[in-house]
Amino acid sequence: MAYFQSKPNSGRHFLHIPGPSNVPDRILRAMDHPTMDHRGPDFGKLGAQVLEKAKAIFKTQSHVVIYPASGTGAWEAALVNTLSPGDRVVMCETGWFAHLWNEMAERLGIVADFVKTDWRRGADVDAIGQKLRDDKSHAIKAVCVVHNETSTGATSRIAEVRAAMDAAGHPALLLVDTISGLGSMDYRHDEWGVDVTVSGSQKGLMLPPGLSFNAISAKAIEASKSAKLTRSFWDWKPMLAANATGYFPYTPATNMLYALDTACDMLLEEGLDNVFARHDRMAEATRRAVRHWGLEVQCEDPRHFSSVLTAVRLPEGHSANALRATILEKFNMSLGNGLGQLNDRVFRIGHLGDITPLQLVGALGGVEMGLRAAGIPHQAGGVQVAMDYLGGNA
Ligand SMILES: *Cc1c(COP(=O)(O)O)cnc(C)c1O
Repeated sequence: MAYFQSKPNSGRHFLHIPGPSNVPDRILRAMDHPTMDHRGPDFGKLGAQVLEKAKAIFKTQSHVVIYPASGTGAWEAALVNTLSPGDRVVMCETGWFAHLWNEMAERLGIVADFVKTDWRRGADVDAIGQKLRDDKSHAIKAVCVVHNETSTGATSRIAEVRAAMDAAGHPALLLVDTISGLGSMDYRHDEWGVDVTVSGSQKGLMLPPGLSFNAISAKAIEASKSAKLTRSFWDWKPMLAANATGYFPYTPATNMLYALDTACDMLLEEGLDNVFARHDRMAEATRRAVRHWGLEVQCEDPRHFSSVLTAVRLPEGHSANALRATILEKFNMSLGNGLGQLNDRVFRIGHLGDITPLQLVGALGGVEMGLRAAGIPHQAGGVQVAMDYLGGNA
Protein backbone atom coordinates (compact mmCIF):
# COMPACT_ATOMS: atom_id res chain seq x y z
CA MET A 1 0.00 0.00 0.00
CA ALA A 2 1.08 3.59 -0.52
CA TYR A 3 1.52 4.95 2.99
CA PHE A 4 2.11 8.47 1.87
CA GLN A 5 -0.95 9.50 -0.07
CA SER A 6 -4.67 9.12 0.33
CA LYS A 7 -5.35 8.82 -3.36
CA PRO A 8 -3.37 7.36 -6.24
CA ASN A 9 -1.68 10.46 -7.62
CA SER A 10 1.34 9.85 -9.78
CA GLY A 11 4.67 11.31 -8.71
CA ARG A 12 5.89 12.04 -5.22
CA HIS A 13 3.85 13.58 -2.50
CA PHE A 14 5.25 17.04 -1.62
CA LEU A 15 5.92 16.95 2.11
CA HIS A 16 6.36 20.56 3.20
CA ILE A 17 5.37 20.43 6.83
CA PRO A 18 8.09 21.60 9.24
CA GLY A 19 8.87 18.08 10.30
CA PRO A 20 8.88 15.22 9.71
CA SER A 21 10.91 16.41 6.75
CA ASN A 22 11.89 14.62 3.57
CA VAL A 23 14.33 11.72 4.03
CA PRO A 24 17.04 11.62 1.33
CA ASP A 25 17.34 8.37 -0.62
CA ARG A 26 20.90 7.93 0.64
CA ILE A 27 19.57 7.77 4.19
CA LEU A 28 16.74 5.40 3.25
CA ARG A 29 19.33 3.11 1.68
CA ALA A 30 21.49 3.25 4.80
CA MET A 31 18.55 2.02 6.88
CA ASP A 32 17.92 -0.82 4.46
CA HIS A 33 20.46 -3.16 6.05
CA PRO A 34 19.98 -6.16 8.34
CA THR A 35 19.49 -5.25 11.98
CA MET A 36 22.59 -6.17 13.95
CA ASP A 37 23.14 -7.69 17.40
CA HIS A 38 23.17 -4.65 19.64
CA ARG A 39 25.29 -6.54 22.19
CA GLY A 40 27.58 -8.16 19.62
CA PRO A 41 31.24 -7.29 19.07
CA ASP A 42 30.64 -5.06 16.02
CA PHE A 43 27.94 -2.89 17.49
CA GLY A 44 30.24 -0.90 19.77
CA LYS A 45 32.12 0.43 16.72
CA LEU A 46 28.92 1.76 15.17
CA GLY A 47 27.73 3.19 18.49
CA ALA A 48 31.01 4.94 19.22
CA GLN A 49 31.24 6.29 15.67
CA VAL A 50 27.73 7.71 15.58
CA LEU A 51 27.96 9.23 19.08
CA GLU A 52 31.18 10.95 17.99
CA LYS A 53 29.73 12.28 14.73
CA ALA A 54 26.65 13.59 16.53
CA LYS A 55 28.91 15.78 18.68
CA ALA A 56 30.08 17.63 15.58
CA ILE A 57 26.48 18.45 14.66
CA PHE A 58 25.72 19.83 18.14
CA LYS A 59 29.14 21.54 18.18
CA THR A 60 30.09 20.03 21.49
CA GLN A 61 33.06 18.20 22.97
CA SER A 62 30.82 16.94 25.75
CA HIS A 63 28.34 14.04 25.77
CA VAL A 64 25.42 13.44 23.42
CA VAL A 65 22.93 10.74 24.43
CA ILE A 66 20.46 9.20 22.00
CA TYR A 67 17.03 7.90 22.98
CA PRO A 68 14.72 5.69 20.93
CA ALA A 69 11.92 8.26 21.39
CA SER A 70 10.37 11.31 19.80
CA GLY A 71 11.54 14.78 20.80
CA THR A 72 9.01 14.94 23.64
CA GLY A 73 10.93 12.18 25.40
CA ALA A 74 14.18 14.14 25.23
CA TRP A 75 12.35 17.18 26.71
CA GLU A 76 11.42 15.01 29.68
CA ALA A 77 14.96 13.65 29.94
CA ALA A 78 16.37 17.19 30.12
CA LEU A 79 14.05 18.10 33.00
CA VAL A 80 14.11 14.92 35.10
CA ASN A 81 17.88 14.57 35.00
CA THR A 82 18.63 18.09 36.20
CA LEU A 83 15.77 19.21 38.49
CA SER A 84 14.01 18.30 41.72
CA PRO A 85 10.32 18.51 42.69
CA GLY A 86 9.34 22.11 43.46
CA ASP A 87 12.34 23.61 41.66
CA ARG A 88 11.70 26.99 40.04
CA VAL A 89 12.51 27.52 36.37
CA VAL A 90 12.01 30.34 33.85
CA MET A 91 10.39 29.30 30.56
CA CYS A 92 9.57 31.49 27.56
CA GLU A 93 6.22 31.29 25.81
CA THR A 94 7.37 31.63 22.24
CA GLY A 95 4.51 29.49 20.87
CA TRP A 96 2.84 26.10 21.02
CA PHE A 97 5.95 23.97 21.60
CA ALA A 98 7.11 26.19 24.45
CA HIS A 99 3.59 25.85 25.85
CA LEU A 100 3.76 22.05 25.70
CA TRP A 101 7.18 21.96 27.36
CA ASN A 102 5.83 24.23 30.09
CA GLU A 103 2.83 21.90 30.63
CA MET A 104 5.19 18.96 30.93
CA ALA A 105 7.32 20.77 33.50
CA GLU A 106 4.24 21.61 35.59
CA ARG A 107 3.05 18.00 35.44
CA LEU A 108 6.44 16.85 36.68
CA GLY A 109 6.14 19.12 39.73
CA ILE A 110 8.45 21.89 38.52
CA VAL A 111 7.30 25.45 39.23
CA ALA A 112 7.64 27.46 36.04
CA ASP A 113 7.62 31.22 35.66
CA PHE A 114 6.32 31.51 32.08
CA VAL A 115 7.52 34.67 30.29
CA LYS A 116 4.85 35.62 27.74
CA THR A 117 5.29 36.77 24.17
CA ASP A 118 2.70 37.45 21.48
CA TRP A 119 3.83 34.36 19.48
CA ARG A 120 5.32 36.66 16.82
CA ARG A 121 8.96 36.71 17.97
CA GLY A 122 11.60 34.78 19.87
CA ALA A 123 12.22 34.73 23.61
CA ASP A 124 12.31 38.07 25.45
CA VAL A 125 15.95 38.19 26.52
CA ASP A 126 15.57 41.36 28.61
CA ALA A 127 12.71 39.81 30.59
CA ILE A 128 14.81 36.70 31.28
CA GLY A 129 17.70 38.87 32.45
CA GLN A 130 15.40 40.85 34.74
CA LYS A 131 13.94 37.68 36.33
CA LEU A 132 17.44 36.46 37.06
CA ARG A 133 18.64 39.78 38.49
CA ASP A 134 15.55 39.88 40.74
CA ASP A 135 16.29 36.36 42.01
CA LYS A 136 18.91 37.32 44.60
CA SER A 137 18.63 33.99 46.45
CA HIS A 138 19.24 31.96 43.26
CA ALA A 139 16.02 29.99 43.66
CA ILE A 140 15.70 29.67 39.86
CA LYS A 141 17.40 26.45 38.81
CA ALA A 142 17.05 26.60 35.03
CA VAL A 143 16.11 28.77 32.07
CA CYS A 144 14.31 26.83 29.31
CA VAL A 145 14.14 28.25 25.79
CA VAL A 146 12.92 26.86 22.47
CA HIS A 147 15.58 27.75 19.90
CA ASN A 148 13.39 27.38 16.83
CA GLU A 149 9.69 27.69 17.67
CA THR A 150 8.16 25.49 15.01
CA SER A 151 4.62 26.77 15.58
CA THR A 152 5.46 30.38 14.66
CA GLY A 153 8.69 30.34 12.64
CA ALA A 154 10.55 32.48 15.19
CA THR A 155 14.06 31.70 16.40
CA SER A 156 15.39 32.72 19.81
CA ARG A 157 18.89 34.12 20.08
CA ILE A 158 20.52 31.65 22.42
CA ALA A 159 23.89 33.43 22.60
CA GLU A 160 22.06 36.54 23.88
CA VAL A 161 20.16 34.48 26.46
CA ARG A 162 23.50 33.12 27.68
CA ALA A 163 24.95 36.64 27.81
CA ALA A 164 21.95 37.86 29.85
CA MET A 165 22.41 34.98 32.31
CA ASP A 166 26.12 35.74 32.64
CA ALA A 167 25.47 39.47 33.05
CA ALA A 168 23.08 38.66 35.90
CA GLY A 169 25.78 36.47 37.45
CA HIS A 170 23.14 33.76 37.89
CA PRO A 171 24.06 30.05 38.17
CA ALA A 172 20.84 28.62 36.60
CA LEU A 173 21.21 25.90 33.99
CA LEU A 174 20.36 26.74 30.38
CA LEU A 175 18.12 24.11 28.72
CA VAL A 176 17.42 24.59 25.02
CA ASP A 177 15.03 22.79 22.64
CA THR A 178 16.47 22.79 19.12
CA ILE A 179 14.36 19.86 17.97
CA SER A 180 13.58 21.61 14.69
CA GLY A 181 16.62 23.89 14.42
CA LEU A 182 19.50 21.43 14.54
CA GLY A 183 20.96 20.63 11.15
CA SER A 184 19.19 23.51 9.40
CA MET A 185 20.21 26.56 11.45
CA ASP A 186 23.42 27.43 13.25
CA TYR A 187 23.61 25.90 16.71
CA ARG A 188 26.58 25.84 19.12
CA HIS A 189 26.09 23.86 22.32
CA ASP A 190 29.53 24.56 23.79
CA GLU A 191 30.13 28.09 22.56
CA TRP A 192 26.70 29.28 23.69
CA GLY A 193 27.15 27.72 27.10
CA VAL A 194 24.07 25.52 26.85
CA ASP A 195 23.76 22.89 29.59
CA VAL A 196 21.23 20.57 27.97
CA THR A 197 20.33 20.71 24.29
CA VAL A 198 17.24 18.75 23.28
CA SER A 199 16.82 17.60 19.68
CA GLY A 200 15.01 15.09 17.50
CA SER A 201 15.64 13.11 14.35
CA GLN A 202 12.79 14.02 12.02
CA LYS A 203 13.39 17.68 11.28
CA GLY A 204 16.71 19.26 10.28
CA LEU A 205 18.51 15.94 10.62
CA MET A 206 16.48 14.54 7.68
CA LEU A 207 15.75 11.24 9.45
CA PRO A 208 12.42 9.52 10.03
CA PRO A 209 10.83 10.13 13.45
CA GLY A 210 12.09 7.92 16.25
CA LEU A 211 15.33 9.26 17.74
CA SER A 212 15.87 12.11 20.14
CA PHE A 213 18.89 13.62 21.81
CA ASN A 214 20.31 15.36 24.85
CA ALA A 215 23.69 17.10 24.54
CA ILE A 216 24.88 17.51 28.10
CA SER A 217 27.42 19.90 29.65
CA ALA A 218 29.68 18.93 32.56
CA LYS A 219 27.62 21.31 34.74
CA ALA A 220 24.42 19.45 33.80
CA ILE A 221 26.01 16.10 34.65
CA GLU A 222 27.03 17.54 38.00
CA ALA A 223 23.44 18.77 38.58
CA SER A 224 22.09 15.32 37.73
CA LYS A 225 23.94 13.85 40.71
CA SER A 226 21.69 15.70 43.17
CA ALA A 227 18.51 16.11 41.04
CA LYS A 228 15.61 14.33 42.75
CA LEU A 229 12.88 14.03 40.08
CA THR A 230 11.98 10.37 39.53
CA ARG A 231 13.65 8.96 36.46
CA SER A 232 14.36 5.53 35.10
CA PHE A 233 14.19 5.12 31.31
CA TRP A 234 15.55 8.67 30.84
CA ASP A 235 18.36 8.42 33.37
CA TRP A 236 21.65 9.66 31.89
CA LYS A 237 23.83 7.64 34.25
CA PRO A 238 23.41 4.10 32.82
CA MET A 239 23.28 5.64 29.34
CA LEU A 240 26.62 7.41 29.71
CA ALA A 241 28.17 4.34 31.32
CA ALA A 242 27.16 2.09 28.42
CA ASN A 243 27.95 4.73 25.78
CA ALA A 244 31.56 4.83 27.00
CA THR A 245 32.13 1.63 25.01
CA GLY A 246 29.65 2.45 22.23
CA TYR A 247 26.78 0.40 23.69
CA PHE A 248 23.36 1.27 25.12
CA PRO A 249 21.64 0.16 28.35
CA TYR A 250 18.57 -1.02 26.40
CA THR A 251 17.92 -1.82 22.76
CA PRO A 252 18.79 1.19 20.62
CA ALA A 253 16.95 1.91 17.35
CA THR A 254 19.66 0.10 15.41
CA ASN A 255 18.61 0.91 11.86
CA MET A 256 17.97 4.53 12.81
CA LEU A 257 21.58 4.69 13.97
CA TYR A 258 22.71 3.62 10.47
CA ALA A 259 20.56 6.48 9.22
CA LEU A 260 21.96 8.95 11.73
CA ASP A 261 25.51 8.00 10.79
CA THR A 262 24.72 8.77 7.15
CA ALA A 263 22.84 11.99 7.98
CA CYS A 264 25.88 13.27 9.90
CA ASP A 265 28.11 12.36 6.93
CA MET A 266 25.84 14.25 4.54
CA LEU A 267 25.75 17.38 6.72
CA LEU A 268 29.49 17.35 7.34
CA GLU A 269 30.31 16.64 3.67
CA GLU A 270 28.21 19.63 2.55
CA GLY A 271 29.71 21.65 5.42
CA LEU A 272 27.46 22.95 8.19
CA ASP A 273 27.95 26.58 7.16
CA ASN A 274 26.87 25.74 3.61
CA VAL A 275 23.85 23.85 4.94
CA PHE A 276 22.81 26.86 7.03
CA ALA A 277 23.36 29.28 4.13
CA ARG A 278 21.20 27.05 1.90
CA HIS A 279 18.36 27.20 4.42
CA ASP A 280 18.75 30.96 4.87
CA ARG A 281 18.29 31.32 1.11
CA MET A 282 15.20 29.09 1.05
CA ALA A 283 13.66 31.08 3.88
CA GLU A 284 14.40 34.45 2.28
CA ALA A 285 12.93 33.29 -1.04
CA THR A 286 9.82 32.10 0.78
CA ARG A 287 9.35 35.38 2.66
CA ARG A 288 9.75 37.34 -0.58
CA ALA A 289 7.02 35.24 -2.20
CA VAL A 290 4.74 35.67 0.83
CA ARG A 291 5.20 39.44 0.88
CA HIS A 292 4.54 39.65 -2.84
CA TRP A 293 1.30 37.70 -2.39
CA GLY A 294 0.36 40.44 0.08
CA LEU A 295 0.24 38.02 3.01
CA GLU A 296 1.89 38.45 6.39
CA VAL A 297 4.72 36.39 7.88
CA GLN A 298 3.79 35.36 11.44
CA CYS A 299 7.23 36.29 12.83
CA GLU A 300 7.40 40.09 13.06
CA ASP A 301 11.01 40.59 14.11
CA PRO A 302 13.48 40.12 11.22
CA ARG A 303 16.24 39.22 13.70
CA HIS A 304 14.14 36.21 14.69
CA PHE A 305 13.13 34.93 11.24
CA SER A 306 13.43 31.15 11.09
CA SER A 307 15.25 29.45 8.24
CA VAL A 308 13.43 26.18 9.05
CA LEU A 309 9.88 27.20 8.26
CA THR A 310 7.71 30.20 7.47
CA ALA A 311 4.31 30.56 9.11
CA VAL A 312 1.97 32.62 6.93
CA ARG A 313 -1.09 34.48 8.25
CA LEU A 314 -4.28 34.53 6.24
CA PRO A 315 -6.48 37.64 6.01
CA GLU A 316 -9.41 37.80 8.48
CA GLY A 317 -12.32 35.65 7.40
CA HIS A 318 -10.22 33.10 5.51
CA SER A 319 -9.46 29.59 6.72
CA ALA A 320 -5.89 28.32 6.63
CA ASN A 321 -7.14 24.76 7.14
CA ALA A 322 -9.45 25.01 4.12
CA LEU A 323 -6.51 26.30 2.07
CA ARG A 324 -4.34 23.39 3.19
CA ALA A 325 -7.11 20.91 2.37
CA THR A 326 -7.46 22.42 -1.12
CA ILE A 327 -3.71 22.20 -1.72
CA LEU A 328 -3.59 18.58 -0.54
CA GLU A 329 -6.57 17.61 -2.66
CA LYS A 330 -5.56 19.41 -5.84
CA PHE A 331 -1.77 19.35 -5.73
CA ASN A 332 -0.85 16.51 -3.38
CA MET A 333 1.20 18.71 -1.03
CA SER A 334 1.11 18.73 2.78
CA LEU A 335 1.65 22.05 4.57
CA GLY A 336 1.82 22.54 8.34
CA ASN A 337 -1.32 23.53 10.24
CA GLY A 338 -1.60 26.35 12.77
CA LEU A 339 -1.14 25.11 16.35
CA GLY A 340 -2.94 26.26 19.47
CA GLN A 341 -4.20 29.83 19.15
CA LEU A 342 -2.92 29.90 15.56
CA ASN A 343 -5.14 27.02 14.44
CA ASP A 344 -6.79 27.97 11.14
CA ARG A 345 -5.08 31.41 11.27
CA VAL A 346 -1.75 30.38 9.74
CA PHE A 347 -0.32 27.69 7.54
CA ARG A 348 3.33 26.71 7.79
CA ILE A 349 5.71 26.07 4.89
CA GLY A 350 8.55 23.76 5.91
CA HIS A 351 11.84 24.45 4.10
CA LEU A 352 14.11 22.46 6.39
CA GLY A 353 16.34 19.44 5.93
CA ASP A 354 16.87 17.97 2.49
CA ILE A 355 15.67 20.76 0.20
CA THR A 356 16.84 22.39 -3.02
CA PRO A 357 15.76 25.57 -4.81
CA LEU A 358 13.76 23.58 -7.36
CA GLN A 359 11.83 21.77 -4.64
CA LEU A 360 11.07 25.09 -2.99
CA VAL A 361 9.87 26.62 -6.25
CA GLY A 362 7.56 23.62 -6.64
CA ALA A 363 6.24 24.04 -3.12
CA LEU A 364 5.67 27.77 -3.54
CA GLY A 365 3.96 27.04 -6.87
CA GLY A 366 1.59 24.71 -5.02
CA VAL A 367 0.84 27.44 -2.47
CA GLU A 368 0.21 30.07 -5.14
CA MET A 369 -2.10 27.79 -7.12
CA GLY A 370 -3.84 26.91 -3.86
CA LEU A 371 -4.40 30.56 -2.93
CA ARG A 372 -6.08 31.04 -6.25
CA ALA A 373 -8.16 27.85 -6.05
CA ALA A 374 -9.29 28.64 -2.50
CA GLY A 375 -10.28 32.20 -3.40
CA ILE A 376 -7.80 33.89 -1.05
CA PRO A 377 -7.11 37.48 -2.12
CA HIS A 378 -3.48 37.77 -3.20
CA GLN A 379 -1.21 39.29 -5.81
CA ALA A 380 -0.10 36.63 -8.30
CA GLY A 381 3.62 36.30 -9.08
CA GLY A 382 5.15 35.39 -5.72
CA VAL A 383 6.80 32.34 -7.27
CA GLN A 384 8.43 34.56 -9.89
CA VAL A 385 9.85 36.76 -7.14
CA ALA A 386 11.23 33.68 -5.39
CA MET A 387 12.75 32.45 -8.66
CA ASP A 388 14.35 35.84 -9.29
CA TYR A 389 15.95 35.65 -5.86
CA LEU A 390 17.06 32.02 -6.09
CA GLY A 391 18.28 32.50 -9.66
CA GLY A 392 20.36 35.49 -8.64
CA ASN A 393 18.39 38.10 -10.58
CA ALA A 394 16.66 39.74 -7.63
C1 LIG B 1 8.58 18.75 16.78
C2 LIG B 1 8.91 19.55 17.97
C3 LIG B 1 8.72 19.07 19.27
C4 LIG B 1 8.07 17.75 19.55
O1 LIG B 1 8.82 16.70 19.10
P1 LIG B 1 8.15 15.26 18.89
O2 LIG B 1 9.20 14.53 18.12
O3 LIG B 1 6.88 15.49 18.13
O4 LIG B 1 7.90 14.68 20.23
C5 LIG B 1 9.11 19.88 20.32
N1 LIG B 1 9.65 21.10 20.12
C6 LIG B 1 9.84 21.60 18.90
C7 LIG B 1 10.43 22.95 18.74
C8 LIG B 1 9.47 20.85 17.79
O5 LIG B 1 9.64 21.35 16.55
